[in-house]
Amino acid sequence: MMNEEHKLSRRQVISGLSASLAVAAVGPVFGAPETGSAAADPLEDPTKKYPKPPFKSQQQPWPGLAGQMEPKPDHGEKSYKGSGRLKGRKALITGGDSGMGRAAAIAYAREGADVAINYLPAEEADAKEVIALIKAAGQKGVAIPGDLRDEAFCKRLVDETVRQLGGLDIVVSNAGRQQQRQSILDLSTEDFDATMKTNIYAPFWIIKAALPHLKPGSCIIGTTSEQATDPSPDLYDYAQTKAATTNYVRSLAKQLAPKGIRVNGVAPGPIWTPLQVSGGATQEKLVKFGGDTPMGRPGQPVELASIYVQLADPQASYSTGQVYGAAGGKGMP
Ligand code: NAD
Ligand code: MG
Repeated sequence: MMNEEHKLSRRQVISGLSASLAVAAVGPVFGAPETGSAAADPLEDPTKKYPKPPFKSQQQPWPGLAGQMEPKPDHGEKSYKGSGRLKGRKALITGGDSGMGRAAAIAYAREGADVAINYLPAEEADAKEVIALIKAAGQKGVAIPGDLRDEAFCKRLVDETVRQLGGLDIVVSNAGRQQQRQSILDLSTEDFDATMKTNIYAPFWIIKAALPHLKPGSCIIGTTSEQATDPSPDLYDYAQTKAATTNYVRSLAKQLAPKGIRVNGVAPGPIWTPLQVSGGATQEKLVKFGGDTPMGRPGQPVELASIYVQLADPQASYSTGQVYGAAGGKGMP
């Protein structure tokens, strides 16, 4: 009796299983999108996923190269998997050679977008790798080096992007300047001006130049920071530009929503990028970098890639004026 019941339930289980396998097998016939490998990825503990402090003391001349950092940052080169979320889109990413911009460039290309990146001529080595990765994803990759502190260049950057990609629908204003100064007395007018030009004027110039090309359904994404709401004492100039970034995202979102253009921001916490090893952080802060977050480690650029994708994805059509954070449990966007 027991045996019989047992057999029956086993048979039910097996037939149930084969029924669900059959559904899985016919899934694509009904146009279900591909979900990649059938095997589940193993669970990963985020606290153990990437390097923790102490880090080796290291300094590079500004603007620094990702390729020369130890350990090398992870921008998703080996790990990011796309699923067609940005198919046919045309994106411009400033600071696309390294850090968050590079992670966004790799992810956008693997999601099916053509991508133009801007960077400084000194960063050519990093930029070359990014262009090769975009092309390896089967997309168009355009390199447009130049200094964003120059208004005429910002205009040319947009024009050149539109010409080479045949349009523009995603603008990621990500380039940034961060140079720590212990005292406001050490901060020169030239320093202050360079930070304002890079972090505030350049997005203003780029967005103005891009707007006439942006059709309904396009989007703008700014990279802000936890510094916008929790400024460090040695980042007097930088932190206020990030408060301004969060603010322009919210203002422009309201201005452009009726035109069908979304504007959102990404607010990283401490992320392992060249900005930090080329004057952004003291050596004392760098060796302990990210150790004060609840996760006990800095973030890697790839850990923000999916946020840049999400904010650009047409499926996020009701999200505008939002700032999405990733800070290991510390700070608020
Ligand atoms: P990064 O050094 O990899 O990227 C910054 C990029 O800005 C550089 O690659 C460079 O190409 C570009 N840039 C700087 N000045 C420029 C200029 N005058 N003209 C043209 N390009 C210029 O570092 P990142 O950390 O990935 O920085 C990307 C963004 O993330 C920045 O806006 C930064 O403020 C922000 N952010 C970084 C952190 C962090 O901990 N790393 C935290 C919060 C926010
Ligand atoms: Mg760089």
